[in-house]
Amino acid sequence: MQNQLFINGKWSPAKSGAIFDVVDPSNREVFHQVARGGAADIEAAVAAAREAFDNGPWPRMSGARRAGILRKMGDEIAARSNELAHLEVRDNGKPLPEAVWDIEDTAGCFHFYADLAERLDNDAEEDIPLPMETFTVKAVREPVGVAGAIIPWNFPMLMAAWKVAPALAAGCTMVLKPSELTPLTALEYGSIAEKAGLPAGVLNIVTGYGPEAGQPLTEHPGVDKLAFTGSVPTGSKIMQAAARDIKTISLELGGKSPLVVFGDVEVDEAVEWILFGIFWNQGEVCSATSRVLIEESIYPRLMERLVEETRKIKIGHGLEEGVLLGPLVSQGQHEKVLAAIERGKAEGATLVTGGGVPAGLEQGCYVEPTIFAEVPTESWIWKEEIFGPVVCIRTFQSEEEAVRLANDTRFGLGAAVMSNDLERANRVARAFRAGIVWINCSQPTFTEAPWGGYKQSGIGRELGEWGLNNYLETKQITTYDRSAPWGWYLRE
Ligand code: NAD
Repeated sequence: MQNQLFINGKWSPAKSGAIFDVVDPSNREVFHQVARGGAADIEAAVAAAREAFDNGPWPRMSGARRAGILRKMGDEIAARSNELAHLEVRDNGKPLPEAVWDIEDTAGCFHFYADLAERLDNDAEEDIPLPMETFTVKAVREPVGVAGAIIPWNFPMLMAAWKVAPALAAGCTMVLKPSELTPLTALEYGSIAEKAGLPAGVLNIVTGYGPEAGQPLTEHPGVDKLAFTGSVPTGSKIMQAAARDIKTISLELGGKSPLVVFGDVEVDEAVEWILFGIFWNQGEVCSATSRVLIEESIYPRLMERLVEETRKIKIGHGLEEGVLLGPLVSQGQHEKVLAAIERGKAEGATLVTGGGVPAGLEQGCYVEPTIFAEVPTESWIWKEEIFGPVVCIRTFQSEEEAVRLANDTRFGLGAAVMSNDLERANRVARAFRAGIVWINCSQPTFTEAPWGGYKQSGIGRELGEWGLNNYLETKQITTYDRSAPWGWYLRE
């Protein structure tokens, strides 16, 4: 397990010498300590990234050569998947099979962007047709410069991959600041980069707290682009910091995503996706379908099965066989989620099941899978992101009512609809004001497809071609055909 900062290809302690604790959420015990980076470390990391961008080989080498190194990084992640998944379970708490998915997706993300880096050798220049022959114009795509990436704790290694892989593919250099709650797998990118032969200074990793390490990164004039995943209030601060120097930004923020279930679906099919939509990764998922709207005709039968299956969910340590719900990431998140549940009860929502700390698991940050029904639309729990295993349910009578309730939110990240009538499902999908829409499922995510939110859920799209474009500038190069007549001032 690494515990130092990775700057300019070297491991070093924080300049202040400070460290912070890494806590296992399954028992609240400190099991490791890492460097507590601050402004001086960010200064060194940005200087290294700046030098690597302005004078180093990385932005100047062919896409195919960058692809070779990205592929090696992907291969190394895949080769170490078991060890990295275990590290993720210890740091974040998630069940091992879900951590294994994360690491497999992380390796896949590097392989995907390796292919796109290679394609850039042909795609980076495009001739723009003009209605005249006096000029020829090319659009040329170039790396945007030094990227600052700030990531959250819910999918620590994967969320970093969504930024590191496309940024490196584009030819950018970068500074990565992981969440202070889950710094361990992000630090492993340092040794992965070393092994793959990434030039020094291209990827720099500074662990530390948001205000101490994150904020100086967002405010640094040497950073050209900021990429952030996290909460709306922090996203707003990052946008303000970016505004001062007109930095390019992409933001992936929170959500309160709806899942609309029409009465014509199989009850058990709906139960499966409702459960997966809110309880995988302990509900600590930005796109979790945390508001479920159920057509009245199916409601009693569906609720009965949903409650029955929810009570069967095995809660426990992420490494225990068969566990589907691990501890929440931290003491702070545990307190926040339990407080949200109390608030829901006080607001008049009906607590159907869960709502507390599971018996026998008091030593860790565990919360029972929780269902609220008849949740008032004006209540805090209906409107705000809880970011835990808590689902809010209401009924609806018509398609029009379902769409209105689904869209009545300041967020717009995900939305899902289930119906046997695909025409209706597609109509509702198009009516949703959200960036990611699922039909007859909830949550499946693909490296190839665009990911991001409408409204307060963010700006820009990650993954796919969209993810690469986040790290590219477009330059226009216009060439004058000197044999054609011109002469504005120097006329004969
Ligand atoms: P957070 O905003 O508290 O922290 C995210 C990151 O920002 C951390 O690395 C933190 O250290 C850093 N940070 C905090 N204050 C900062 C500041 N002033 N300047 C710069 N950096 C700062 O969010 P979190 O608690 O880590 O994550 C939970 C939130 O993230 C949820 O609201 C969730 O919806 C959202 N999220 C969104 C997505 C998505 O894809 N849209 C994915 C995961 C999480």
